[in-house]
Amino acid sequence: MHDLTCMIKGCQTRVYAPAGTHSICREHFLAYLTWRRRKGPQMFMKYAGMTMEERDPLVAEWANTIRIEEAPTAPAPKS
Ligand SMILES: [Zn+2]
Repeated sequence: MHDLTCMIKGCQTRVYAPAGTHSICREHFLAYLTWRRRKGPQMFMKYAGMTMEERDPLVAEWANTIRIEEAPTAPAPKS
C-alpha cells in the first residue's frame, strides 16, 4: 500500500513526505506547506492535531487547486 510516486496526478516524482494517507514529492510538499500557511496560523495548529485520515480531505482540496495555480495567466480566485 506504499505509494512510490507522488499522489498528484501527472507527477512521477518519488515521494518525499506524507500527505494524509498518501505521499507527495518534495516540490508538492512545499507547495502544500505554502497553501496551508496561506490559510493562516489557526489552520496550521489545527492541522497538527489532525489524524492522517482527517487530513485527506484537506489534501484533496489542495490537490484541486494545483492546476489553477500552475496556469500562469489564471487570476487568483478570491475566497
Ligand atoms: Zn509531485
